[in-house]
Amino acid sequence: MPRLGGVCLLCKLRLLLLVMLLIPQGIMFGLANSTALAADRWFSQIEAISLGSALLLALAAPGLTIEWLFGKPLEKMRFFCSIVKQGNYQARLFLPNESRDRDDEDSITMLMRDMNWMARQIEMREQELKLAVENVWESRQQVEQQNQFLAETNAELMVVQGRLNQRTTELEEALKKMQVMALTDPLTTIANRRCFFDTLEKQVAALVCTYRPISLVMIDVDRFKTINDTFGHEAGDRVLRELAGIIEKYSRETDLAARIGGEEFTVLLPGTGSRDAVVVARRIKTAISRHKFELGDEQQISITVSIGVCTLAQTPCCDRDNLYNYADQALYHSKNNGRNSISIFDPAIQSVVKVG
Ligand code: GH3
Ligand code: MG
Ligand code: MG
Repeated sequence: MPRLGGVCLLCKLRLLLLVMLLIPQGIMFGLANSTALAADRWFSQIEAISLGSALLLALAAPGLTIEWLFGKPLEKMRFFCSIVKQGNYQARLFLPNESRDRDDEDSITMLMRDMNWMARQIEMREQELKLAVENVWESRQQVEQQNQFLAETNAELMVVQGRLNQRTTELEEALKKMQVMALTDPLTTIANRRCFFDTLEKQVAALVCTYRPISLVMIDVDRFKTINDTFGHEAGDRVLRELAGIIEKYSRETDLAARIGGEEFTVLLPGTGSRDAVVVARRIKTAISRHKFELGDEQQISITVSIGVCTLAQTPCCDRDNLYNYADQALYHSKNNGRNSISIFDPAIQSVVKVG
């Protein structure tokens, strides 16, 4: 039941009707009492019936009127609301003259129209929401597809990356091998000529900064050609391989043993003075002369070597570049003085002496 200002509309109407009906009745009753009609029994009965009827009318009429005026539309609205509550937003209250001017409409019709408007709005919003959800769903599917694609691409990349890493490792290993090969003598597997001269250059250049001496021992096999001629080139190679082993074995860890040509070897001794260099040279020479070289077929030979030694210690620039030549001169001196010997070149006095 509609309420106005906190009091039931029906009660108000009842009160109003009661007042409207009872006041005239009361006046009539008052007037009748003050006249001769008061003694009339019939009049009193009619008056009482009239009062009772007015009372009944005042009590029943507003309810019936409201029921007659609002009952049906309210029922319609309640039914409409129950349909909308169930989620049927397409439902509408039937209203005639939907398109006409609405200024003179009663409140109930306007309310129904508003409810239709609300239902339309809800329907519209629901459609928008559905569309938005569909869009989100589509976007989500696209994102999932892209994620899938990315995951597959990533997996492929990982495979390629794995292959690339493997290839890089292989290339690095190959490069290392090539670098080692570039600096290694293939016959004897000790340092080759290139490695020797690279190291010599670096070590001699370091002399300026460190003020430490550097020595070079140059070794050449005596009459090696005869070995080749007598036992064959293959046998000569075997001798060279064993010889390289001996030279390396009797050099120190800090020294560099290298094969710089056919049967010529060098030992570079950084930080070593002439005395220690001669000690190393003697050790090598003795070890070679005592060694029996296997030629195959149970054949063995002994060989001797000629050695040239030179040491540089805080020498002028021009001398630094000549270390190799000085050692070579010392070796030549040993060759010319009976072979199987050690000679040392002294850069200070520019002369060679045989020392062993
Ligand atoms: P010397 O005492 O004057 O040094 O005489 P030598 O015979 O040792 O010197 P020469 O320079 O006349 O001969 C060196 C020989 O070394 C000539 C060459 O055939 C031989 N030779 C050079 N390289 C190799 C090699 O790799 N293997 C073999 N088996 N022989 C080589
Ligand atoms: Mg020789
Ligand atoms: Mg030679």
